[in-house]
Amino acid sequence: MSFQDYDIGIIGGGIIGLATAMRLTQEYPAYKVVVLEKDSEIATHQTGHNSGVMHAGIYYAPGTQKANFCSTGGQLLREFCDERGIEYEMCGKVIIANTEEEIPRLDDLFQRGTANGAMGLEMVGPERLRELEPHAAGLKAIWSPNTGIIDFMKVSHAYATEFREGGGDLLTGTPLRGVVRRDNRLYMETPRGEITAKHIINCAGLYADSVARMMGVDPGLRIVPFRGEYFSIKPERANLVNGLIYPVPNPAMPFLGVHFTKRINGSVEAGPNAVLAFAREGYKKTSFNMSETFATITYPGFLKMAMKYWKTGFDEQWRSMRKSVFLKSLQTLMPEIQMDDLAEPGAGVRAQSIDRNGNLLQDFAISQTENAIHVLSAPSPGATSSLTISRYIVDIAKNSFGLAA
Ligand SMILES: Cc1cc2nc3c(=O)[nH]c(=O)nc-3n(C[C@H](O)[C@H](O)[C@H](O)COP(=O)(O)OP(=O)(O)OC[C@H]3O[C@@H](n4cnc5c(N)ncnc54)[C@H](O)[C@@H]3O)c2cc1C
Repeated sequence: MSFQDYDIGIIGGGIIGLATAMRLTQEYPAYKVVVLEKDSEIATHQTGHNSGVMHAGIYYAPGTQKANFCSTGGQLLREFCDERGIEYEMCGKVIIANTEEEIPRLDDLFQRGTANGAMGLEMVGPERLRELEPHAAGLKAIWSPNTGIIDFMKVSHAYATEFREGGGDLLTGTPLRGVVRRDNRLYMETPRGEITAKHIINCAGLYADSVARMMGVDPGLRIVPFRGEYFSIKPERANLVNGLIYPVPNPAMPFLGVHFTKRINGSVEAGPNAVLAFAREGYKKTSFNMSETFATITYPGFLKMAMKYWKTGFDEQWRSMRKSVFLKSLQTLMPEIQMDDLAEPGAGVRAQSIDRNGNLLQDFAISQTENAIHVLSAPSPGATSSLTISRYIVDIAKNSFGLAA
């Protein structure tokens, strides 16, 4: 077997691709595995631009993959980090109801969280909320002590190290540009020339649908990029926040609403909102990619989604344009936060999968086709769940690729 011939090619060096690569080399060391990452560094997109929260598994409808993967994933992740000395902090989180009409939704979240195995949840009133988060305001809140913060880039680098030590090849600066099927092998076209594999696992994040199409697969959905914009809180005001302070989310939307997030480096962020991005890796308001934007706006599922959610979309866009509106949302959780407290803006871009009927996929979507597995939707809590998602993918690979230990 030459350098360019592999048993399994993984597309994408984000946290899901790397967790899967690590697990494959641990469970099936006889197989040659390569990860192709288009950028010169790993984990710089969703993984490197996320909120860094180890979710406890509160929000997710029972029976969904998010519900099944999140709390066990968090537990496995903490064990992994403990063994390798990767820092994390279980700072806890409050989800706050501010109006009477949010209270039934908060009660519902409490039931869901308990059913999903999120440990230690407590329903608290204003007094206990003040003890936990002295600067937050609300009528009632869920306290989740089992929610934490971490640097998912560091976790991804640890997965990559174990993968390489297990004999895997990680090729950065190697975008997949096309796939040709020939003689029972998949020929992956890259700037390094052709690299072949018997099987492909597509973990390309914001480009997972494009990679599926390169393989002749109709994914039945389109990834639409949504930019999540946030502000950092000035360092001298970071002490307003002890941990994580969230609102009650709108159950129809896959986003959690603007919130306060303590980061593992001690800084605090406020946000994110969710606005349509005009490029899949469009981290700035001015980012624009003509062909990607054209593909989004002419996709029938996007048009149906836009008709359903135009009001929410308009509100989010308005909040993106007006810092004062952003501030007002934050003040519902923390009345004393002021315009002067909001410093450096930043953003992440999420890969939001939308089906042909205009539905926003809320759950993970992992499908298999001939010689391939495609991760077509890996929203939050994908990073928290990376070790359970990788276990799920490797189990599919074992059966459908016929892997033998
Ligand atoms: C704003 C935001 C906040 C979030 N907050 C949290 C959180 O607090 N907690 C949590 O658990 N989850 C969170 N998530 C979700 C989490 O970040 C994702 O579930 C996770 O990062 C997905 O990982 P991935 O490997 O699938 O994608 P990515 O990290 O996007 O990686 C995909 C990789 O594929 C590469 N690639 C793409 N196309 C090609 C190609 N053709 N050839 C080669 N390589 C290619 C890309 O360069 C990229 O490195 C958040 C997500 C966002 C966007």
